Amino acid sequence: MKLEKNIMAELIPVLNEDEIKKLVADVAQNISDDYKDSEIVLIGVLKGAFVFMADLIRKITIPVKIDFVAISSYGSNTVSSGKIKLTREIEIDLKNKNILIVEDIVDTGLTLKYLIDYIESFEPKSVRICALLDKYERRETKINVDYPCHRIEKGFVVGYGIDYAEDYRNLPAIYHLKQ
Ligand code: 5GP
Repeated sequence: MKLEKNIMAELIPVLNEDEIKKLVADVAQNISDDYKDSEIVLIGVLKGAFVFMADLIRKITIPVKIDFVAISSYGSNTVSSGKIKLTREIEIDLKNKNILIVEDIVDTGLTLKYLIDYIESFEPKSVRICALLDKYERRETKINVDYPCHRIEKGFVVGYGIDYAEDYRNLPAIYHLKQ
């Protein structure tokens, strides 16, 4: 995809398409190996994880079921507010299932903490986390990402499904948004 010059000026490359492809294939392999002979339910967190989820499931070689939750954190600035609301609920049965939450970015971990509590209320067999980007240095909770694809430090990123005020989701690569 060719980017308009004025958009490009604000964006600093973090991961290109090939790098993302390799990271996704590697994590999918690890997931397929670890859950060999069992079935998993992948729960994608909308909207940011939709592109990652679509690529990830096509590289996983064991049976999977999928569902999505939608989360909104109040406000639309670039800092996590910690106030979280579920705007789409799980539809499939999670009881006694192996659950893998698929997130775009884990930052403070507050969103995941909320989500794990919600998912555990359905009495699953296990709950693990896969994240495209892990901002582990900014963690404010004890959340551990079982399958991180790539670790980044601070900064605000967009692209590959990840937005700023609903823009940039269609970019095929990941960029740091210069503010
Ligand atoms: P947490 O609750 O872990 O602090 O935040 C997780 C959520 O905040 C992510 O799912 C994502 O929606 C948003 N977020 C955190 N860092 C970034 C970022 O660099 N860019 C964008 N677009 N969203 C982010």
